[in-house]
Amino acid sequence: MHLRDKVIVVTGGASGIGQALCRRFWAEGARGVVVADRDAEGARKVAAEIGGLALPVDVSNEPEIVRLVEQATAAFGPIDLFCSNAGIAGEPGGPEVANASWQKTWEVNVMAHVYAARAVLPAMLARGQGYLLQTASAAGLLTQVGAAPYSVTKHAAVAFAEWLAITYADRGIKVSCLCPMGVHTKLLDETIGPVRDMLRAEVLEPEAVAETVIAGLAAEQFLILPHPQVAEYVRRKASDHDRWLRGMRRLQDQWGVGR
Ligand code: NAD
Repeated sequence: MHLRDKVIVVTGGASGIGQALCRRFWAEGARGVVVADRDAEGARKVAAEIGGLALPVDVSNEPEIVRLVEQATAAFGPIDLFCSNAGIAGEPGGPEVANASWQKTWEVNVMAHVYAARAVLPAMLARGQGYLLQTASAAGLLTQVGAAPYSVTKHAAVAFAEWLAITYADRGIKVSCLCPMGVHTKLLDETIGPVRDMLRAEVLEPEAVAETVIAGLAAEQFLILPHPQVAEYVRRKASDHDRWLRGMRRLQDQWGVGR
């Protein structure tokens, strides 16, 4: 997909990767960019900068997603590309993390993607075209040492994106799944210390991620990997799972997290 004259919604558009996507989509000649975020003030700033429309939304609240889609469509016409990008790091830890915290991470990192697909697909299917960009994470293909809620929900986000790509391909719907490792954003700053420090070694700026997204959307490629080494890590995991688990345990020991 090329972005000239397209109508695009980006959740989590006030900050980090989402903000860089909004700016880049506008620079590519999009007709309308909707900056959707629970941070209304941040969204307003980004929208003002690019001549887009800021809409406040909590992506984990389905009626708010429905309203977002209605308002975006009323402002610019049918949505061509919906980027389900908002996400949270969740709490570090595993089974000991409280249910309410697991649930919150599940709602923002997974159910928000379900609500968005449910809200945008009918119009896209009626037109026989539409594009969904789902921001998951390399943690959804591999794992996030020290953070089970993030790992599990990002795996689910990848699974949902794959399912959409398989199910709707014959009906004109394209799907891409963005899976970065460390990106220099607020979310990374909030991630637990040792992991953050390790990730910093391979961290990208959000603008570099947006650049890869433009190329991935142009190629209509399912998996968009701003860190190309992730493809090799996934190959190693698939070819010998036990060896991969041993390697991850070594990383966990080096980083001093997870136990
Ligand atoms: P960020 O914190 O800079 O931006 C996330 C944005 O999402 C914020 O503006 C925040 O207000 C918004 N948001 C959070 N919860 C929301 C909700 N319930 N409703 C509406 N908006 C909400 O972080 P980022 O790194 O740009 O994160 C964007 C996406 O990229 C996330 O899905 C994250 O999991 C993913 N990701 C980030 C990294 C990284 O290292 N930064 C790596 C892999 C994947």
